[in-house]
Amino acid sequence: MDRPLIGEPLPLDLLNTLWVHGGRTVDALADPAGVGAWLDERDLRSPCSAEQLGPALREGREAMRQALLSPDRPAAQDALNALLARGHLRDRVGPDGPESVVQVDDERWRIAWLAAHDLVALLRHRPERIRRCHNEDCPLWFLDTSRNATRRWCSMDHCGNRSKVRRHRARRAKPEVEPPSQR
Ligand SMILES: [Zn+2]
Repeated sequence: MDRPLIGEPLPLDLLNTLWVHGGRTVDALADPAGVGAWLDERDLRSPCSAEQLGPALREGREAMRQALLSPDRPAAQDALNALLARGHLRDRVGPDGPESVVQVDDERWRIAWLAAHDLVALLRHRPERIRRCHNEDCPLWFLDTSRNATRRWCSMDHCGNRSKVRRHRARRAKPEVEPPSQR
């Protein structure tokens, strides 16, 4: 099934591998084929197999989700910090000048670590732009890059229009006032 929202920054895109369709939660990373498809979509490479990466990605995703939903909860902070502690950036110089190399203790965690690392950067620089879809039944996240910071929906098609239809129906339910006659 096609994901309803793609193209967000890596950490939010990882969160968006979970969505709700017809009242049911769909997990694009539920099986190795889905993990492989997501890695291809993001152009991410790993020496590990999709089978090996799946559990780390799903656990990392949950840690990031909880950290965004309950930023003040110590358990949520601990879980994200535990993920962040699985790797670090090492600065070095190479033939092309300065470079940063990601080092992880366990290759299975590299991509989840990268996502968590990018999430911290977003939280540091643009926390007010990290948004959850305004539809409370929708678990999708996005970085609001609209000029006036007015984006409310994961997408117009998925949630925005549904809300418009609901508002329209609510208006229609009220007694209509006859327009004054032109004659
Ligand atoms: Zn939505």
